[in-house]
Amino acid sequence: MSVLLTVLAALIATGACAYHRSGLRTWAITTIVTTVVVGLLTRAPITTVILLLIEVAIAVPLLNLGFRRKQISAPLLKMFAKVTPKLSDTEQTALEAGTVGFEGELFSGKPDWHELLKQPKPELSVEEKAFLDGPVEQLCGMLDDWQITHELADLPPEVWDFVKKHKFFGMIIPKQYGGLGFSALAHSAVLQKLATMSATVASTVAVPNSLGPAELLLHYGSDEQKNFYLPRLAVGEEIPCFALTGPYAGSDATSIPDYGIVCKQVVDGVETIGMRLNFDKRYITLAPIATVVGLAFRLYDPDHLLGDKDDLGITLALLPRSTPGLEIGRRHFPLNIPFQNGPVRGKDIFAPLSTLIGGPHMAGHGWRMLVECLSVGRAISLPSNATGGVRMAVAGTGAYARMRKQFGLAVARFEGVEEALARIGGLTYATAALSRATAAAVDRGEKPAVPSAIAKYHATEWGRVIAGDALDVHGGKGVQLGPKNYAGRAWQGVPIAITVEGANIMTRSLMIFGQGAIRCHPYVLKEMQALSIADYSERLKAFDRALFGHLGFGVSNAVRSFALGLTGARIGETAGDAYVRRYYRKLNRYSAALALCADTFMGVLGGKLKFKEKLSARLGDVLSYLYIASAMLKRYEDTGRPEADRPLLAWAFHECMWRTQMALDGAIRNFPVRPVSWLLRVLVFPFGRREVPPSDRLGRRVAAIITAPGEARDRLLEWAYLTPTSNNTVGRMNELLPDVIAAEPVERKFGKAQKAGQFKSHDYLGQLDEAVKAGVIDVAEAALLKRVREGVFEFISVDDFDPAELRSAVTRKDVKKLADAA
Ligand SMILES: Cc1cc2nc3c(=O)[nH]c(=O)nc-3n(C[C@H](O)[C@H](O)[C@H](O)COP(=O)(O)OP(=O)(O)OC[C@H]3O[C@@H](n4cnc5c(N)ncnc54)[C@H](O)[C@@H]3O)c2cc1C
Repeated sequence: MSVLLTVLAALIATGACAYHRSGLRTWAITTIVTTVVVGLLTRAPITTVILLLIEVAIAVPLLNLGFRRKQISAPLLKMFAKVTPKLSDTEQTALEAGTVGFEGELFSGKPDWHELLKQPKPELSVEEKAFLDGPVEQLCGMLDDWQITHELADLPPEVWDFVKKHKFFGMIIPKQYGGLGFSALAHSAVLQKLATMSATVASTVAVPNSLGPAELLLHYGSDEQKNFYLPRLAVGEEIPCFALTGPYAGSDATSIPDYGIVCKQVVDGVETIGMRLNFDKRYITLAPIATVVGLAFRLYDPDHLLGDKDDLGITLALLPRSTPGLEIGRRHFPLNIPFQNGPVRGKDIFAPLSTLIGGPHMAGHGWRMLVECLSVGRAISLPSNATGGVRMAVAGTGAYARMRKQFGLAVARFEGVEEALARIGGLTYATAALSRATAAAVDRGEKPAVPSAIAKYHATEWGRVIAGDALDVHGGKGVQLGPKNYAGRAWQGVPIAITVEGANIMTRSLMIFGQGAIRCHPYVLKEMQALSIADYSERLKAFDRALFGHLGFGVSNAVRSFALGLTGARIGETAGDAYVRRYYRKLNRYSAALALCADTFMGVLGGKLKFKEKLSARLGDVLSYLYIASAMLKRYEDTGRPEADRPLLAWAFHECMWRTQMALDGAIRNFPVRPVSWLLRVLVFPFGRREVPPSDRLGRRVAAIITAPGEARDRLLEWAYLTPTSNNTVGRMNELLPDVIAAEPVERKFGKAQKAGQFKSHDYLGQLDEAVKAGVIDVAEAALLKRVREGVFEFISVDDFDPAELRSAVTRKDVKKLADAA
């Protein structure tokens, strides 16, 4: 017994130091003192001596006491250099781009919640609010999405004019160049509001404000280029597009076969150095109407007119539409969301060097330029458009489910529908918080490479879930397209958002964890960077420091993961009020588990982990859910911990934790080295999988929130266009919703009498008269029922068309005839 007690005391002392991440010196002193004291008390001299010998044997090399620690790290450095995959320039660029924000804390295994909570609350300026309430509100009032998506397959001229005049294309362009100079939050809010009315308009506005000519010019353009293009781009005098993708290079964008050869040509009688360009691009947004084309191609200089390099690498240029030979103008047709999108081609086009973004010295830096700018645009455009879409799903589906009656009840009352409504409400809460968090990161000056990938992936994936649920709840009303259908186009458009700016499968499998593990890990990048130090003793020094830091980090995460798992995350550092304290503790637990698994996977599989995409994707999911949950907790704090939001927060939080658990379990279960998998199971899930998805009861509370007016619903609908204008069915439905709810008890009285056969008339209005006469309901109640029935009829109605209306104005045959005639 005394032996056991002594060993246990030493282990607890070590474990406590590891849990709290005490320094090596503190650990050595604490453990040795504990062993001596407990050894004396329990009178176990032999055990005490053995333990002390072990502790000293560990402490001496670690603390560099006489024995140089480098004698251990030197051979390990050799091994590490062998197993570490050589990063391509492309991968190196991707890893070095961007900054690390709070996601780094989540990867640390011991997040500092005060770091999160002390971030300023993101807010719009007075000017930005005025823009939302002014031009954006006005624009929303002008939009007829059926006209855009079906009749014109384009925005009507007055919408184009309005968008240009009010500088919607210049939100990211600073005021000094005539732009709006908006914060990322305002940019996001504008896109969200537009997306509640038209995915086509939101996409059209998003692109010039995302990664493209304006963003690239702002960062790398010469003064001359900035002064010329930015003021014109701000007012839509120039319409930009950016052409990277082609038939042979989609996700693998660095393999573009498009090329330019540096050469000389006589232009206007003057010999000019320029490039002869050959390219074939497709899927390019705004290309058909672009006046300036941003082009990515590989530049070669065989005659060494620019320097001594033959292959300069990926290069970016801005070609005016008037460039002779530039083929542009035809259109693709992305899933009935007809924003301008099409191919751009050029064969042996000559472009002077002055078209290079930033000038000739930026030739070959194109990939770095793109990757450095990517995170900012990706953090805003698609997450915001998706968030606008899901907010509108809340407004439309929540109201419709309350209005649509079947089996004598609002369909919202059926548990099956309630389940879909709960998903819509809970996931919208999460998506909105995520979108806001990434916009806030950009406003803090971060280049959030990892969060932008998380936001792009999850906002659009949840957009897909919610769009599907919204359609299901609407039944036939959602399926029959026409001006009255506000849900169908949103559902059709979701796969577009899933595909662009890093197609989602690749974003999940390759990017989130791949970049996150190396960028956010406190030691891995340092170890990799140590390898590139030329001087051996400096390299060893840097590697030794990173390696032993890393070892301590690993031990601490194993202990923290096990201890927090054993206690069901009931102990440890926390923040927030009594309601959310347990949430922070759960995040501590899974943060430690993520850090432990990430380290173990990278340590055991080394470079092979890059090809184990299914494992990498699951760990990426864990990082994502922790990030999203943190964003929700921050939002809860920023909004003053509103009690009304708790069901939404709770639903979304438990969903995230359940998904976290399943992703961790999947990663551990499928880890190819079985003994490691078994050990991880014990450390991460000592009592098995205990997280459960949100309960049915909680789901009911969420469904109740989105089907009735209230402060929590209002917050979910922030920035949605709900003005009950004639073009906004959802706005008008929401205007009627209070009456629909007020009518429910009256309908019950009326329905009872109806069922009891109290009325002779077969006509609804006749029955209402009889009900008033019989004293079942009063006159005001009858008027309410009549008003609601008439109002609801408009919303449950669908469109029908003359067959000629649905026929395409021009058939393929007509096009062929025209082409043959030409
Ligand atoms: C409507 C629309 C607008 C667009 N706008 C522009 C624009 O303005 N400018 C521009 O340059 N481009 C634009 N694009 C191109 C867009 O960025 C690409 O479509 C996208 O990069 C994917 O390329 P791909 O379509 O060729 O798919 P592919 O690369 O052929 O991918 C097919 C599938 O394989 C998956 N995949 C590929 N590699 C991996 C991997 N290593 N691991 C796991 N999965 C992988 C992908 O996720 C995808 O699911 C647009 C595309 C669309 C559809």
